[in-house]
Amino acid sequence: MFGVDVRLHLTFFLLPMFIFWTEYNAHHTANGTRDLALAGIILACVGAHECGHMLAARRFGLIPKAVILLPLTGVTLYDEPREKPQPATLFWKREIRLALAGPLVSLALAGLIAAIVTASGSGGDLWKWPFLQPARLPRSLMWANLYLVILNLLPAYPLDGGRILRAVFSRTLDLSTATRRAVSISTAIAMVLIFAGPFSDSWLTMVGVIIFFAAQLEERALVFQSVLDNVRLEEVMLTDFATLSPADTLEDALEKAVHSLQDDFPVVRGSDMVGVISRQRILDALRAEGNGYVQAVMNKIFEVSVRQESLSSAFRKLTTRNSSIIPVVEDQRLVGIVTLQNLMHSMTLLAESRKLQRDEAES
Ligand SMILES: [Zn+2]
Repeated sequence: MFGVDVRLHLTFFLLPMFIFWTEYNAHHTANGTRDLALAGIILACVGAHECGHMLAARRFGLIPKAVILLPLTGVTLYDEPREKPQPATLFWKREIRLALAGPLVSLALAGLIAAIVTASGSGGDLWKWPFLQPARLPRSLMWANLYLVILNLLPAYPLDGGRILRAVFSRTLDLSTATRRAVSISTAIAMVLIFAGPFSDSWLTMVGVIIFFAAQLEERALVFQSVLDNVRLEEVMLTDFATLSPADTLEDALEKAVHSLQDDFPVVRGSDMVGVISRQRILDALRAEGNGYVQAVMNKIFEVSVRQESLSSAFRKLTTRNSSIIPVVEDQRLVGIVTLQNLMHSMTLLAESRKLQRDEAES
């Protein structure tokens, strides 16, 4: 939507089941359609809340790329490295403004709905318990927004209150330490809510579980970002790879591709890089036009990189060109290749090993 990849977290699919279960326990009946409608209302309210954050982020020059919606909050991934080197004073001020944008949107929506319902003559109904109830959808719509305001102000990272807390920590600590401290506080709050649920309201357990998942997601995104920014291509590039020649026929090329794990091949004449081609492209060309030469179907426009480039720069090149391979060159000589497949693999491995190193350093 609007250039942003919108994803739903698995907990969103648990939500209708959870509502059905609580309704059934309370009244021994439940209406599946209305339960789904309530889950839909919560989804729409979270979406509006996250739009508030993303619009504010745009004003600060951050381009939202993807958002993962949870029933309480969203985890947004931005295109540019989020933590560009900038004065710490600017960072925490910006973070606090970004964090407040979401709750302000939710508060405004709640006010608007309250005004509409009151104008239609059933205003008294808004303040009756239980506030969130599948049988009372307009009331639920107002309260879903109000709950988003109240709950998001909890100091549980990555909820908005937790972001403000992290911004305050970041005034005296470096960002990754500030984030880790905010995440530990958040995990403690999540545990308290999860265990308090059975003794009071099962919604508390649901909120605790969501905070726990969101904190995990956000922490993983941060580790990935640091891998992207700090790892050089020479650390992950493939140095043992198959190449094709422009004079190869497509059938020869396919034969070579069968014996290799690669999905993408650099095309080399002598020691010159002249193109790139994917296994899929070879297959498609063979199907469409029969046998021919690699020369005719290879991609002649491609980006090259150097050993010292960061993974984030490689990712950007791959996505802007919509290609899946980048040759790594040194003095115009091909020294390695980086493919999308190989980047994904190494990212996961590197993120895991960083996490292990960090856990070791902490214990
Ligand atoms: Zn928020």
